[in-house]
Amino acid sequence: MSSYLIRCPSCRTKNRIPEDKISLTPKCGKCGRPMNMDDIFTGKPVTVTDSNFETTVLKSPLSVLLDCWAPWCGPCQMIGPVMEELAGEWKGRIRIGKLNSDENPGISGQFQIRSIPTLLIFDNGQLKESIVGAFPKQHIIQKMAPYL
Ligand SMILES: [Zn+2]
Repeated sequence: MSSYLIRCPSCRTKNRIPEDKISLTPKCGKCGRPMNMDDIFTGKPVTVTDSNFETTVLKSPLSVLLDCWAPWCGPCQMIGPVMEELAGEWKGRIRIGKLNSDENPGISGQFQIRSIPTLLIFDNGQLKESIVGAFPKQHIIQKMAPYL
Protein backbone atom coordinates (compact mmCIF):
# COMPACT_ATOMS: atom_id res chain seq x y z
CA MET A 1 0.00 0.00 0.00
CA SER A 2 1.30 3.45 -0.69
CA SER A 3 1.73 6.11 1.94
CA TYR A 4 2.27 9.85 2.09
CA LEU A 5 4.91 11.89 3.88
CA ILE A 6 3.16 14.87 5.38
CA ARG A 7 4.67 17.50 7.61
CA CYS A 8 2.73 18.38 10.76
CA PRO A 9 1.65 22.03 10.55
CA SER A 10 2.19 22.46 14.29
CA CYS A 11 5.55 20.80 15.11
CA ARG A 12 6.95 20.31 11.56
CA THR A 13 7.61 16.58 12.05
CA LYS A 14 7.22 14.47 8.93
CA ASN A 15 4.56 11.79 9.36
CA ARG A 16 4.21 8.77 7.12
CA ILE A 17 0.50 8.26 6.62
CA PRO A 18 -0.92 5.19 4.90
CA GLU A 19 -3.26 5.92 2.05
CA ASP A 20 -6.30 4.44 3.81
CA LYS A 21 -5.87 6.71 6.87
CA ILE A 22 -5.77 9.96 4.93
CA SER A 23 -9.52 10.54 5.07
CA LEU A 24 -9.61 10.11 8.88
CA THR A 25 -7.81 13.39 9.78
CA PRO A 26 -4.74 11.61 11.19
CA LYS A 27 -2.97 12.88 14.29
CA CYS A 28 0.70 13.79 14.32
CA GLY A 29 2.82 10.98 15.82
CA LYS A 30 4.96 13.47 17.72
CA CYS A 31 2.71 16.22 19.07
CA GLY A 32 -0.66 14.48 18.71
CA ARG A 33 -2.35 17.42 16.99
CA PRO A 34 -4.79 16.61 14.20
CA MET A 35 -3.47 17.16 10.70
CA ASN A 36 -5.96 18.67 8.33
CA MET A 37 -5.66 17.07 4.90
CA ASP A 38 -8.31 19.10 3.11
CA ASP A 39 -6.07 21.24 0.93
CA ILE A 40 -3.41 18.61 0.21
CA PHE A 41 -5.33 16.43 -2.19
CA THR A 42 -6.95 18.98 -4.48
CA GLY A 43 -4.63 18.06 -7.38
CA LYS A 44 -4.65 21.68 -8.54
CA PRO A 45 -2.11 24.49 -8.33
CA VAL A 46 -2.56 26.84 -5.37
CA THR A 47 -2.59 30.59 -5.99
CA VAL A 48 0.18 32.10 -3.88
CA THR A 49 0.25 35.81 -3.04
CA ASP A 50 2.31 38.16 -0.89
CA SER A 51 -0.30 37.78 1.85
CA ASN A 52 -0.76 34.00 1.89
CA PHE A 53 2.86 33.05 1.14
CA GLU A 54 3.64 32.14 4.74
CA THR A 55 0.70 29.76 5.18
CA THR A 56 0.68 28.23 1.68
CA VAL A 57 4.44 27.92 1.16
CA LEU A 58 6.51 28.32 4.33
CA LYS A 59 4.09 26.33 6.49
CA SER A 60 3.08 23.89 3.79
CA PRO A 61 2.71 20.27 4.91
CA LEU A 62 4.31 19.29 1.58
CA SER A 63 7.38 20.48 -0.31
CA VAL A 64 6.40 23.29 -2.67
CA LEU A 65 7.20 23.96 -6.29
CA LEU A 66 6.35 27.62 -6.85
CA ASP A 67 5.90 28.87 -10.40
CA CYS A 68 6.60 32.60 -10.59
CA TRP A 69 5.00 33.88 -13.74
CA ALA A 70 3.24 36.82 -15.39
CA PRO A 71 0.42 36.95 -17.94
CA TRP A 72 2.53 38.74 -20.61
CA CYS A 73 5.37 36.22 -20.48
CA GLY A 74 5.41 33.83 -23.45
CA PRO A 75 7.54 31.03 -21.97
CA CYS A 76 5.34 31.13 -18.85
CA GLN A 77 2.41 30.03 -21.04
CA MET A 78 4.37 26.86 -21.84
CA ILE A 79 5.08 26.10 -18.19
CA GLY A 80 1.48 26.73 -17.09
CA PRO A 81 -0.04 23.50 -18.49
CA VAL A 82 2.94 21.48 -17.19
CA MET A 83 2.22 22.80 -13.68
CA GLU A 84 -1.44 21.78 -14.02
CA GLU A 85 -0.38 18.26 -15.00
CA LEU A 86 2.18 17.96 -12.21
CA ALA A 87 -0.32 19.18 -9.61
CA GLY A 88 -2.51 16.22 -10.56
CA GLU A 89 0.33 13.71 -10.80
CA TRP A 90 1.88 14.79 -7.48
CA LYS A 91 -1.37 15.08 -5.55
CA GLY A 92 -0.58 14.57 -1.84
CA ARG A 93 3.19 14.66 -2.50
CA ILE A 94 4.19 18.11 -3.75
CA ARG A 95 2.25 21.34 -3.57
CA ILE A 96 2.30 23.32 -6.79
CA GLY A 97 1.97 27.06 -6.28
CA LYS A 98 1.53 29.85 -8.80
CA LEU A 99 2.68 33.36 -8.00
CA ASN A 100 1.87 36.23 -10.34
CA SER A 101 5.10 38.22 -10.01
CA ASP A 102 3.52 41.49 -11.21
CA GLU A 103 0.82 41.39 -8.57
CA ASN A 104 3.09 40.24 -5.75
CA PRO A 105 6.17 42.48 -5.64
CA GLY A 106 6.88 41.56 -2.02
CA ILE A 107 7.74 37.92 -2.63
CA SER A 108 9.28 38.65 -6.05
CA GLY A 109 11.60 41.14 -4.36
CA GLN A 110 12.39 38.94 -1.40
CA PHE A 111 13.51 36.08 -3.66
CA GLN A 112 15.08 38.38 -6.25
CA ILE A 113 13.07 37.16 -9.18
CA ARG A 114 14.50 39.01 -12.16
CA SER A 115 13.47 36.80 -14.99
CA ILE A 116 10.41 34.64 -15.45
CA PRO A 117 9.45 31.91 -15.45
CA THR A 118 11.34 31.12 -12.27
CA LEU A 119 10.51 27.97 -10.35
CA LEU A 120 11.34 28.00 -6.65
CA ILE A 121 11.56 24.82 -4.61
CA PHE A 122 10.74 25.10 -0.91
CA ASP A 123 10.98 22.41 1.73
CA ASN A 124 10.26 22.86 5.43
CA GLY A 125 9.97 26.62 5.07
CA GLN A 126 13.26 27.08 3.27
CA LEU A 127 14.19 27.88 -0.30
CA LYS A 128 16.16 24.90 -1.62
CA GLU A 129 16.62 25.65 -5.27
CA SER A 130 15.61 27.95 -8.11
CA ILE A 131 15.13 26.96 -11.72
CA VAL A 132 15.25 29.99 -14.02
CA GLY A 133 13.74 29.58 -17.47
CA ALA A 134 11.21 27.35 -19.19
CA PHE A 135 12.51 23.80 -18.97
CA PRO A 136 10.82 20.64 -20.25
CA LYS A 137 8.62 18.68 -17.88
CA GLN A 138 11.18 15.89 -17.57
CA HIS A 139 13.80 18.31 -16.27
CA ILE A 140 11.41 19.62 -13.61
CA ILE A 141 10.57 16.05 -12.57
CA GLN A 142 14.27 15.28 -12.14
CA LYS A 143 14.80 18.40 -10.03
CA MET A 144 11.89 17.48 -7.79
CA ALA A 145 12.90 13.83 -7.35
CA PRO A 146 14.55 14.38 -3.93
CA TYR A 147 11.30 15.89 -2.60
CA LEU A 148 8.83 13.30 -3.87
ZN1 LIG B 1 3.12 17.51 15.24
